[in-house]
Amino acid sequence: MDNTKISKELEALLCCPVCQAALQFSNNIYKCQNNHEFPVTSGIPILINEKNSIFAIEDFLKQKETFYKLSQEKTLFASLKKLMPDISVNYAVEKNHEDFLQEISKISEAPKVLVVGGSHKGLGLDIILQNKKVKLAEGDVSFGERVQLIFDAHNIPFANASFDGVIIQAVLEHVADPSQCVEEIYRVLKNNGVVYASTPFMQQVHGGPYDFTRFTYLGHRRLFRKFEQIDAGISGGPGMSLSWAYKYFLLSFVKSKLGAHLVTIFAHFTSFFWKYFDFFLRKHDRSYDAASGFYFIGRKSNQILADRELVKLYKGGF
Ligand SMILES: [Zn+2]
Repeated sequence: MDNTKISKELEALLCCPVCQAALQFSNNIYKCQNNHEFPVTSGIPILINEKNSIFAIEDFLKQKETFYKLSQEKTLFASLKKLMPDISVNYAVEKNHEDFLQEISKISEAPKVLVVGGSHKGLGLDIILQNKKVKLAEGDVSFGERVQLIFDAHNIPFANASFDGVIIQAVLEHVADPSQCVEEIYRVLKNNGVVYASTPFMQQVHGGPYDFTRFTYLGHRRLFRKFEQIDAGISGGPGMSLSWAYKYFLLSFVKSKLGAHLVTIFAHFTSFFWKYFDFFLRKHDRSYDAASGFYFIGRKSNQILADRELVKLYKGGF
């Protein structure tokens, strides 16, 4: 009986997000030997450890809006928004996915990949989707067109060493405890498993109340100190940082929602071009002090990068 969106192969790897015991599925409920129960709604298992999450299982059963809004805004502004030039660009994202795919293909002929924060298709994911050998488990704390299971990255509901790769883009700023989430990624990766993370540095608050942290280049590297670096660098450059700062500076003047809409449109049309400087600025060392965000691709390791070694990796203008 296959009542869930998750494949049988990946379902076999699921574990209880509370105690990590194996899960049994019957009567549309996942249950572990310690009687922790997790419901399934519209084929999507809700595997949340309520003691350790901002979200409750009930939020998902009642289809409450969590991180993403469930219905798209159908206002005039929403239509105009689609015509606005973007102030963000990630010049590294396609190459990063290609590199990630190449690395996981070395580990397994049919690599299993967990996408954390995968309710909507992330930038660059098409490269992974085009490879039919890759088996994806896409989970989030929000419903979306791609979500197969609801889980919170503080307690990933998969057994140890389940995956060849983990993708986590633009998520770690939105979790209460990034270190715990990375520890969980480490746990669910096989030996030599590969993580691809992309996380903001100079970005204003987005995602409303679900936005907690930013990382410098070295702060981001330290978060993954139990991984051997394959590649790391700038995902969004100083031009993008400038446009974001300008937009949020202007937004600080307005109080009404309408005012914010108008200022946003004005800001996008008058600053979108700054991002084009990032095409070459992202290759400059000094940009590491001003970047909008960083990426890290690394292999699970048995060694820990010492902080004394970490500081030697500094790249900015100091
Ligand atoms: Zn349990």
